Amino acid sequence: MNMLSTAQSLISRAGHRLGLSDQALAEFLQPNAEHQFEIELKNGKKFPAYRIQHNNHLGPYKGGIRFHPEVDLDEVRALATLMSLKTAAVGLPLGGGKGGVTVDPRSLDAAELEELSRAYAHHLALHIGPHKDVPAPDVNTNARIIDWMVDEFARLTGDTTSASFTGKSLGAGGSLGRDAATGRGGVITLAEYLRLTGQSDRQLTVAVQGFGNVGAFFATIAAAEQPLWRLVAASDTSAALVDPAGLDAVELAQFKQAGRRFADLHSPAITALPAADLIAQDVDVLVLAALGDAVIESNLRRVKAKLIVELANGPVSLIASDHLTPAGTVILPDIIANAGGVIVSYLEWQQNLAGEHWSEARVNAQLADHLIPAIDATIKTAAKAKVSLKEAAFMNALQQITRP
Ligand code: NAD
Repeated sequence: MNMLSTAQSLISRAGHRLGLSDQALAEFLQPNAEHQFEIELKNGKKFPAYRIQHNNHLGPYKGGIRFHPEVDLDEVRALATLMSLKTAAVGLPLGGGKGGVTVDPRSLDAAELEELSRAYAHHLALHIGPHKDVPAPDVNTNARIIDWMVDEFARLTGDTTSASFTGKSLGAGGSLGRDAATGRGGVITLAEYLRLTGQSDRQLTVAVQGFGNVGAFFATIAAAEQPLWRLVAASDTSAALVDPAGLDAVELAQFKQAGRRFADLHSPAITALPAADLIAQDVDVLVLAALGDAVIESNLRRVKAKLIVELANGPVSLIASDHLTPAGTVILPDIIANAGGVIVSYLEWQQNLAGEHWSEARVNAQLADHLIPAIDATIKTAAKAKVSLKEAAFMNALQQITRP
């Protein structure tokens, strides 16, 4: 079962619990628009590209653009659908969309990457914009790429608001706090869950899979703000590093920022295991911050943690969560746990439309103000309907979107 069928099954399940008709569900599952095209660079290299505009009942489509060799239509559809649920689950007046290009950006030089990014915005210029569809970065895309896209869009349309994309560099209208927002949102989600379940005083060991933007910010913010949490394992694609006495999140983040691989980090206190062993660590909390389908049928029995934080999109497959949840593993669901990025994207968009720049403290406070009620509502619905937190989050979101 791929990420799309997982998302669709979860939506059907949540929809049936809400009493939605099959027709209402089928209508929701069908994206409003699918843009599929090919980008050809001047040197003749060709890349399939997508933008799925899933649902705009609550506001303009919102969602990232992924550059990855495994991007395909189904993946972008799944991610667009999850965005519609995510924006609704955290109460934003936005819909859901997602984009992608099937490319390994490491195979391109800087000029090719710029050409590809500008071509992507060029192709979509008629269909996106501050009040239609506001894309953002995702895996392997960043402020530099978004700045090229904004510039291309502005050149073509004359738009001067910079509100056509979020995740821009600060000089081009980006928001303070955006880089760290998804990781920060993960910390807020875990801390709020622990508070609501009376576990704030617990000392916790934590393993983080994926030490890119999201995983590294989660770990460094947790290290700074949560003295009772101890990072004991962290992985990238090359290795899982383990130190029961505690890893230094800031050092690991700096190491990754220098473009290095964990397999090349040598320290007497740290054991390096194969990357796949990260999920099998005997920890209290497993934070999944790499890619989708990290925990699936074939490896779910290796998971020992009783608490999983889904910072990637769809990192626990449906089959895996259906096994783990009844066995007592609590999964803090992606559409809440990783919504920090889209919340601060929304705040960036608001700043652009108002021509303002807010302080990082104001942005962080508003991030928490959006996220905490959503976590509380999810936990409340889960208790009332006796369902998993993921199903509860999907139910709350679907209820918002399907409201006439
Ligand atoms: P990123 O590319 O910066 O980082 C991903 C990291 O995961 C990379 O360092 C990569 O080496 C590592 N990785 C990939 N496969 C792995 C594996 N099997 N084991 C260990 N590490 C592995 O991307 P990111 O922005 O940090 O995003 C991570 C995830 O979070 C993605 O699923 C993304 O869709 C999701 N997400 C990101 C944001 C955001 O704001 N960046 C928001 C919501 C969700």
